[in-house]
Order: sequence, then structure tokens, then C-alpha cells
Amino acid sequence: MRKIRLKSTPASRLGEHFERELNEAQRAAVTAPDGYNLILAGPGSGKTRVITFRVAYLIASGVPAGSIMLVTFTRRAAREMVNRLETLIGEQANHVWAGTFHHIGNRLLRRAAPLLGFQPNFTILDSEDQLDLLRLAMDDAEMSGTGKMAPRPAEVQHLLSFAANVDRGVAEVAAERRPELLEWAPKLVDVAGAYVVRKRAANCMDYDDLLLQWGRLIREFPDQRELQGRMFRHLLIDEMQDTNAVQVAVVESIAEAGAGNLTAVGDDAQSIYRFRGANYDNILRFAERHPGARIFHLDTNYRSTPQIVAFTRASIAHNRTGFPKELVSARPDGVLPLVVSAEDAYDEAVFVCEQILDERDRGRALGQMAILYRNHHDSIVLQGELLARGIPYTVRSGLRFFEQAHIKDVLAFLRIVANPRDEASWRRLLLLLPGVGPAKAAAIYELLARHERPLEAIESAEAMALLPAKSKGFFAGFVADLRKLRATDPESHPGAAIGAILRSGYPDTVRLKYERPDNRIADIEQFALLADRYDSLQRLVADLILAGDVYGMDSLAPDETRDLLVLSTIHQAKGLEWMHVFIPRVVEDSFPHRRSLDEPGGEDEERRIFYVGITRAMNELTLSYPLSLPRGARGPNVFTTPSRFLAEVDEALFERAEIVSGTGAGADDAWFSGAGRPTI
Ligand code: ATP
Ligand code: MG
Repeated sequence: MRKIRLKSTPASRLGEHFERELNEAQRAAVTAPDGYNLILAGPGSGKTRVITFRVAYLIASGVPAGSIMLVTFTRRAAREMVNRLETLIGEQANHVWAGTFHHIGNRLLRRAAPLLGFQPNFTILDSEDQLDLLRLAMDDAEMSGTGKMAPRPAEVQHLLSFAANVDRGVAEVAAERRPELLEWAPKLVDVAGAYVVRKRAANCMDYDDLLLQWGRLIREFPDQRELQGRMFRHLLIDEMQDTNAVQVAVVESIAEAGAGNLTAVGDDAQSIYRFRGANYDNILRFAERHPGARIFHLDTNYRSTPQIVAFTRASIAHNRTGFPKELVSARPDGVLPLVVSAEDAYDEAVFVCEQILDERDRGRALGQMAILYRNHHDSIVLQGELLARGIPYTVRSGLRFFEQAHIKDVLAFLRIVANPRDEASWRRLLLLLPGVGPAKAAAIYELLARHERPLEAIESAEAMALLPAKSKGFFAGFVADLRKLRATDPESHPGAAIGAILRSGYPDTVRLKYERPDNRIADIEQFALLADRYDSLQRLVADLILAGDVYGMDSLAPDETRDLLVLSTIHQAKGLEWMHVFIPRVVEDSFPHRRSLDEPGGEDEERRIFYVGITRAMNELTLSYPLSLPRGARGPNVFTTPSRFLAEVDEALFERAEIVSGTGAGADDAWFSGAGRPTI
């Protein structure tokens, strides 16, 4: 019998999309029966596409959109998936509960907060507020004044957060991860308790609470678990390999209480969040936890050229753990990945920028290219070069470099020496001193402003007299630091001046005041390296800060329509793809990251991060490394060792190029060698 297909019904339109946009294996996963389903497949095989289509399929089959929970890795990913859904099934897409665990937790907790001892209008603490509250909790637990050096608030915060996310006690986690803190274990338990009390009293939750309190709600209130089981008839999770114990317990518990429909999607080889408690057993043991679960494999890579797929396959083969996966590229042949060595960090930055400009001249949009790095501070010299050349970019991995608190502090030091009447900079620095608040800072500035030479006035007994007793010692240190800083002549040697700041009391302030202090100090070291290229502070500021102000990208609402180059850590680039991906600083110590190698399984985790990075590339992949870098804070340049992740891949799978000249001298006299590549 002849079949007549209706062209215009939503269901038939969806059917056409299914035909056109999914292969057979993907269609089977999209239309899998109810129950527990796991899609375990490699990068670029359409896992995210499948999960998006599955939501559309469920809605088209009559499941109310509002009863579907779709957990994604970032808010941005959720937005993109909902947009896609809208084109497939229309406006209903907006009723799906789509977002990160924390986002969905927040929505649910607004209703249930009173059960947990909070008001529905609880505040979410940002990380600085969180540290302030934690400091108070540490006082409550009498951690200071013991005569011994107590762990720093940021360390304590990290331990509490990790313990919470792996659902274990803080003493146990401290014993395992920080054995040197063993004697503090009882106190840490007290701090954890005091912190909980403080948060509740202030009606505040921190970021982890959005997940933990959700977990508590489900565990301790069976009717709430039943309620969520009824609310969410279908649960779907993308990037399952990076879930932690609490997250998996939450969704699996809701699914069990409800209809028992859970679709998980992921790739164990892309599990890169172990430091936050992710455990890829969550995906590998899925079938054990849910007997009868269906498992789907997808083995066609639609993202990357065969050359890139071959390179990625050869790299991940060096990992001893993991689930073996076949992956064949569906794309036409392209060029081999390119591995480029540069004389130093400047040449590397120049090379990357020139490549990007070349490609843009040839018509490729900036937004189709990305620079992905292992460590945020490895991007700083590059950011300087991008700014100097006016290449607009957005940093996905946090604030742009020059908008970060510690960099603003360093600039404030430089600025008061260059312009001793810069009130904002004085204020900023004075407020860093323990015991100095806004009123004291204002009084000191008033005194300075009255004097002909403020930098001399700051050394006067009059200034010292304005300070409370407990600040005097710190203030004296600050004054001495300023004197040393002036001696370096910051106006014509900004790099040396930043070096002086690194040797001053400021790094201790960073350790005291900010979270992740080591990363911040590494940032400042890289800033010094960048500043070394300048013989004028004014020009440095003009090149970097003013250019930053013009773009001002992070202070504005993200402008999706502007064409911006993307800079991101690899961790934040999960699930995404670009035509051309650049990965700089592929040297030992940076990538693999030095510290991670000391941990069991550390090398494999680093290789997975490398794998995630290289599998973001669609058409071109460029890996680069400087042959020399300064050792430590401000040491002389020493030779680097190219990363083991390059050395271990068969040379036939990539092409090498070398920048044969230019010792940090800039674009004019650098030229590149690379067979068969006209642009190099
Ligand atoms: P990752 O592991 O990196 O998250 P993934 O498995 O989620 O990757 P997707 O992002 O869904 O993969 O898909 C990768 C690319 O391949 C996307 O550009 C997607 O649109 C495209 N793609 C997926 N399936 C098909 C298909 N059947 N036909 C054509 N293109 C496809
Ligand atoms: Mg994906």
C-alpha cells in the first residue's frame, strides 16, 4: 500500500529531523524504551545530540516537558540544548528542567528551604563571602591562638568542599589528602560544624549546599523524595563521567522513587574532575547498579577529521584504565595536527596570534577558533599579545586576567609609585592591611594628600600614629616594601617592579586573603614575564588595561553576536568544539601538571585532560611549546622538556614545525618553517 506522509505536523517534522540528523545507532539510543539507559561513547560521536533528541522524542511521545529533568555540565550547555529543542519541538522546550545540578538544586530548594532550616529567600555566598564566614567559623572552633600554625581558610574551604562532594567526613578526607594536617582533624570537624551553624544563622548557602542540601532533602524527607519522583518522570544527564557521589545519589534516588527512567550519557575517557570528587565509576558501574540497563555505543565521530581522530586515539591508548571504544571519523581528510616549537613564551604567543590573524584574513571567524590551556596562568603572556594586537577575545575560564583582584592589587602598587596621588590605588592597598577599614584608609589618604610628597609622608610617624596597634607591624612592612619597589624604577622597568612585589610581603597577603593563592602567585609571575617586554609602565598599562576596558567583555552581558576568539581552560571547554584549536605550553610541569603526577592515577587523569583538549578540534589542531621558560618566580630561562603527551605519539601522526628565529623580539623578525604550510 502506498504510504502518504503528512508534511506539516510537528511529529512528522521531528521524524524528518530524525531521518536526516541521526544515524542508526543514534536513533536507537534516542528512541530507547523507558527504564535505565546508558550511552557510553567517545568524543564527537553525537552523545549530546542524542540526549537532546531524546528529550524531543519523549515530549513528542506525550511526556509533559515540565516533568523532564535534563542535567548539563554548564548553564551555557543547557541554554544551547534548550534552543536546539525549540527548533525541534517548539515553545514547550522551555518547560524542561534543564541546567546544572546546582542550578536545578537551587530551584528546588527555594520551595523546600524551611524543612532544612533556611528561609526560601536564602542568599548564595560567593567564594569571597564564603571565606569570610569560614574565618569566623575557624574562630568559633578556636583554631587560632593554639601556638601552632593553623591551616589557611582557603585550605579548609577546599577540604570541606571536597569532603562534602564525595560524601565523606572531613577528618577522613584530610587524613588521606593532607596527612600533614592530621593533628588538626578534630578541629576541622569542629569548624565544619561551626560553619554549618553560621550559614544557617545568616540564611546563606554556599555553592556546594545547592547540591548537598538537595541531597539531604531527598535522604531525610521521604515524602520529598516521593514528590520529586512524581515531578520528574524522566531524568537525563550529559557528561555523566564527571558526576560525583552526591550527584549520582540524588538523581538515582529520584529515579528509583519515581518512574525509574534515567538516561545517562558520557565517556569515561573524558573524566577530568577528580579534584572535585568526580568518579568515573559512576558511569562504568552503571549497569551493575541497574541490572537490566541498556547500554548503547556510538562509534562514528562527526566532529573531527580522520587525522585528528587518529592522533587522539594514539594518545589515549597510553592510558591503562578505561573502557575501550572504537571511533571512526565520518569527515573527509584534513591536515595533520601541527606541533610547533618556539624559542620562548613570547615567540609562542606571537606565533599563535599571527596564525589567528592569518586565518581571520582568510575568512574564518574568530569565534571558530579557540586557545585552550591546561593552566589559567599559561594564558597570560598570550593575553598580553592578543590585547596588544587588538584581537578581541573572551575568557571562558573566569575573569579576564586584568580584572582579577590580585592583578589589580599589583597594578595598584605600580600605580602609586608612578602617581602617588592615585586615591583608588592607595585605598585598595591600605585595605589589604589587617585592621585597616575604609575609615582608617580614608584618614591615611587624607594625610598623604596634604603632603607635597605622599610617598615620603607614608613613612612619617604621623601616618603610623593613625594606625591601630595591631596594624603597625604590617604597616611598617608595607612601607618598607614600597621603598624597595621604588628602587626598581617601576616606570621604566615594570617587570622588575613586579619582581619586587613578588619578593615583598604581598604574597603572604595573597595567601591570607584569597582562595587558590598558589595559582594567583603563579599568575603574578607570568605577569612579570609579560611586563619584562616593556620599558614603560605607561605603555604596559595602555596596551593591556585600556584595551581591556574597550572590550570590557566580562563586565558586559555576554554578547553572543560579537565575533570573539575564545580562551578557556580545557576543563571549561568540555562538550564544545571549534574549527581550529590551539593548545599552548605543552611542556612537562605545565601539561601534565607537575603536582598532579604525585597522586596515584595522576598521569592518566592528565592524559584525559589532554584528550578532552585535542578532541575539541574539528579541522585543525595546533599544539605548541616554548623551548625555554623562566625557572620559578623570576629565575633565568631554562630549557623545557616537551610534554610526554607529544613524545609518546607516533611521529607519523603529526607534523612538526619550528619557529627558527626571534628571541622574544616580536613579530618582525620571527619566521617559521614547516613543510607544505604556506602560512607558516
Ligand atoms: P563530546 O564527547 O565532546 O561531548 P558528543 O559525543 O556529545 O561529544 P556532539 O557534540 O553531540 O558529540 O556531536 C559532535 C558534532 O557532531 C556536533 O557538531 C554534532 O552536531 C555533529 N553530529 C552528531 N551526530 C551527527 C550526525 N548523525 N550527522 C552529522 N553530524 C552529527
Ligand atoms: Mg557532548
